[in-house]
Amino acid sequence: MVRMIRIFDTTLRDGEQSPGASMNLEEKVMIAKQLARLGVDIIEAGFAYSSPGDFEAVRQVAQEVEGPTICSLARARPEDIDRAWEALKGAPKVRIHTFLSTSDIHLKHQFRMTREEALKRAVEMVQRARGYVEDVEFSPMDASRSDIVYLCEVLEAVIGAGAGTVNIPDTVGYATPQEFGQLIRTIRQKVSHSDRAVISVHCHNDLGLAVSNSLAAILEGAGQVECTVNGIGERAGNASMEEIVMGLRTRKDFYKADSRIRTEEISKTSRLVSKITGMVVQPNKAIVGANAFAHTSGIHQDGLLKEKSTYEIMRPESIGLIQSKMVLGKLSGRHAFRQRLEELGYKPSDEEVNRAFDRVKRLADQKKEIFEEDLEVIISEEMAKIPERYVLKSLFVESGTGKVPTATVELEIDGRAVTQTGTGDGPVDAAYRTIAAMTGTKSRLLTYMVKAITGGTDAQGEVSVRLEEGRNAAIGHGADTDIIVASAKAYLNALNKLAFWVSKSSSPDQKIGLV
Ligand code: MN
Repeated sequence: MVRMIRIFDTTLRDGEQSPGASMNLEEKVMIAKQLARLGVDIIEAGFAYSSPGDFEAVRQVAQEVEGPTICSLARARPEDIDRAWEALKGAPKVRIHTFLSTSDIHLKHQFRMTREEALKRAVEMVQRARGYVEDVEFSPMDASRSDIVYLCEVLEAVIGAGAGTVNIPDTVGYATPQEFGQLIRTIRQKVSHSDRAVISVHCHNDLGLAVSNSLAAILEGAGQVECTVNGIGERAGNASMEEIVMGLRTRKDFYKADSRIRTEEISKTSRLVSKITGMVVQPNKAIVGANAFAHTSGIHQDGLLKEKSTYEIMRPESIGLIQSKMVLGKLSGRHAFRQRLEELGYKPSDEEVNRAFDRVKRLADQKKEIFEEDLEVIISEEMAKIPERYVLKSLFVESGTGKVPTATVELEIDGRAVTQTGTGDGPVDAAYRTIAAMTGTKSRLLTYMVKAITGGTDAQGEVSVRLEEGRNAAIGHGADTDIIVASAKAYLNALNKLAFWVSKSSSPDQKIGLV
């Protein structure tokens, strides 16, 4: 019998705790919609109490995303539980996930509570959450370093109080697969009525064992894994969703377990999360790295040509890596364009379709073939659009050997046209210095990345930048067949986000820290 493992995705909560990966509201909703297409069972959309931005993200995801259960994290405190409910109420499938440490190290030094006080608090808070929702999850934080007898006592009590899921976190990434599997086995044996709750695991990757520990727990009967797309998360990250899912799918014979994930959506989800968070996926990363399906050894290639299964344990198609197809030409109409977007899973408004269509038409004048990836970049930019305080009207850059790179930039700032010329240390620097002088920005440029979206020298270049100004940070993207223009667009996109967040003060703010 093959058991179905619940996939609990925490990309928007723990994933967002990755240094530098903060996302705005629109970006979170976009990722959540893709997670729904991917077929995850539960989305942890944020930690409602921690900040107004998180509250709003949980609320909007709960309102707008259909399919998965939407969850908010809450510390074991009344105000946290109430706030989680405030954000979730009205949505069809919701869960409150509350947590409290059970390790003596945490209780003594961080919470200053006795074991008895912590147990009582955990039970009270699970009951309080059950007063609002049917579906409650409890996590004993730092479980892998807790006294096992006390841990089992707490789990028994919270299951008795109505927690339908108990999640065992390896908060600091300290466990080994053998130990962690044993821990799950002990919990199942020692906690009476443990079968009334789903046992979940939440593993961190400090020693590179998050996926191994999660799979070891599945072998011992865990029914839910908490994971993130591309394995992003606090410090070295969380267990990687795609590795767990493909591990189970490929070795179902061994694990006797699988998930309901539509694996064909994996590659696209990975690209979206990487793009939005600015967290690049290493090329040799399992499943979603650029080289994961690239065979270079001659012997392997020879085998593959004769029979795929000789050296390929998974098909690239199974994660949605298909040969890039030309999807639109110069003569394609608006209707075909919308249809193509819908096939790709987007549901844009008429206005978004119009804006994207105009850009695709202009792009078709610059390069012969438009690929799916081109469309995705353009539509996701248009759908995530924020009010533009700064609009690029034109850019002219002169550079080359023996020349001082000079940029002339024409911007519309708050609807007013402004033109300025400046120099720099290379064409991008010249453009950036000129834009910085025109906008008066105090932000610092932390990262600058450029990559080609598809093959060929006529491909669109996509530039991603990360800016920081005080406590605010923003990631900007820009795509164009001219990489200097793409660079200017990315810079302005980030400046617009900073301006927007400051005006709404909805920037990803300082969080209270966690599981
Ligand atoms: Mn965590």
